[in-house]
Amino acid sequence: MRTVAGLMASWLVKCHVGISGTSNRNLICRSWNRLMAKTAQIRLRRAPSPGERDLTSCRVNHVWRPDRRLLIPSAKAGNKILFAMLDEMPISSRGHEFDVAIVGGGPAGLAAGMYLARFLHSVIVVDAGDARAKLIPKSHNCPGFPDGVGGSELLGRLKAQAQRYGAGVVDGRVAGGKKRDGTFVLTTTFGTIRARRVVLATGIVDKAPAIEGLEEAVAAGTVRLCPVCDAYEAVGKRIGVVGPEHLALKEALFLKEYSGQVTLLANYPEDISDAARGMASAGGIEIWDTVEDLVARATGFGVVMADGAPMRELDVVYPAMGSDVRSELAIALGAECDAQGYVLVSRHLETSTAGLYAIGDVAEGLNQIAVAFGHAATAATHIHNALQSRPES
Ligand SMILES: Cc1cc2nc3c(=O)[nH]c(=O)nc-3n(C[C@H](O)[C@H](O)[C@H](O)COP(=O)(O)OP(=O)(O)OC[C@H]3O[C@@H](n4cnc5c(N)ncnc54)[C@H](O)[C@@H]3O)c2cc1C
Repeated sequence: MRTVAGLMASWLVKCHVGISGTSNRNLICRSWNRLMAKTAQIRLRRAPSPGERDLTSCRVNHVWRPDRRLLIPSAKAGNKILFAMLDEMPISSRGHEFDVAIVGGGPAGLAAGMYLARFLHSVIVVDAGDARAKLIPKSHNCPGFPDGVGGSELLGRLKAQAQRYGAGVVDGRVAGGKKRDGTFVLTTTFGTIRARRVVLATGIVDKAPAIEGLEEAVAAGTVRLCPVCDAYEAVGKRIGVVGPEHLALKEALFLKEYSGQVTLLANYPEDISDAARGMASAGGIEIWDTVEDLVARATGFGVVMADGAPMRELDVVYPAMGSDVRSELAIALGAECDAQGYVLVSRHLETSTAGLYAIGDVAEGLNQIAVAFGHAATAATHIHNALQSRPES
């Protein structure tokens, strides 16, 4: 565990301190008579001015270093408080109450963490590490990246940005939670954490067909999971769409605007109704309805037909099979979801459980990075105002 030993004296007068029980949560220490740092300790010594609260008896929630690293109390000894870097100490030993706990460290959760840290709140982001964003080989519609950006690179940048301002980003999974006396208590793989507000940014998981080499095909862009994201990259290609007809037909019609060769793939003729066939035909979409297998190749797929017809070729396959929404935690915390499992939210991204927010893919709306960022900004600002007891913005 790295403590603040020796680090504090030079910058102490400039650090910010979060104190519970007062709306003035983050004070500039230079206004204090004396804020002493000894080895890994802060001792609050300030006689209150007339009419002021006695700060020496306040509970200190966290201290921000000028480099925006967040220190939180790790132990107490009388009126001395030991502090340690949030992301360098075992959380299980902390028993700490954060202003905000964010579940999920994809684009939504990390962007919210950055905003809330810049609003000077103590923030922890708990991330299980399988962001949908990690699957993005290269995004070309992420604003600000004219040459595109890979999902892992984007996540790395977002994490660094959140950490720069003091958000703690911790590996782990939140397994359950409850709200008790206005405080959220979350059970995680590393222990229990408490928070005044919780943001769920847990995302969704795409359903995909059992194609051998699926992961590699997604990385190579021969299987694509998000036409809104990357249909542009499939312009003029031979595209196959696989999935239940109500989803696959809709996606195929969308993709038809990008390519003259869009085909619905089915295993059996009875998989596609006459009505769907009529709409496909009207939209110029072909149907191959005896597909036995898709054989991944470096630049596309060989399509094996069950009727013995010669193998056909595709450049790109789009599964249109829906997704599993990771809303279990939202449900456990009492939030309402729609029929597909998306968490229902207000215009501020608050769920039906007060103080619980849902942002990014897990919330109802368009599953996009730019949307996740917008959600993060909106929810974080609403949380900030609520924690400061300011009117809604
Ligand atoms: C192949 C592919 C390409 C895409 N291309 C683009 C594109 O070009 N442009 C675009 O805008 N969008 C694209 N998307 C969509 C984009 O990835 C998502 O919209 C975005 O990742 C949503 O961010 P999120 O933070 O909501 O969820 P995610 O990125 O899925 O992150 C959710 C995080 O929450 C964590 N988590 C879940 N449950 C828990 C728990 N209980 N405890 C702790 N952590 C938990 C997960 O481990 C994960 O890290 C693409 C998606 C795919 C699959």
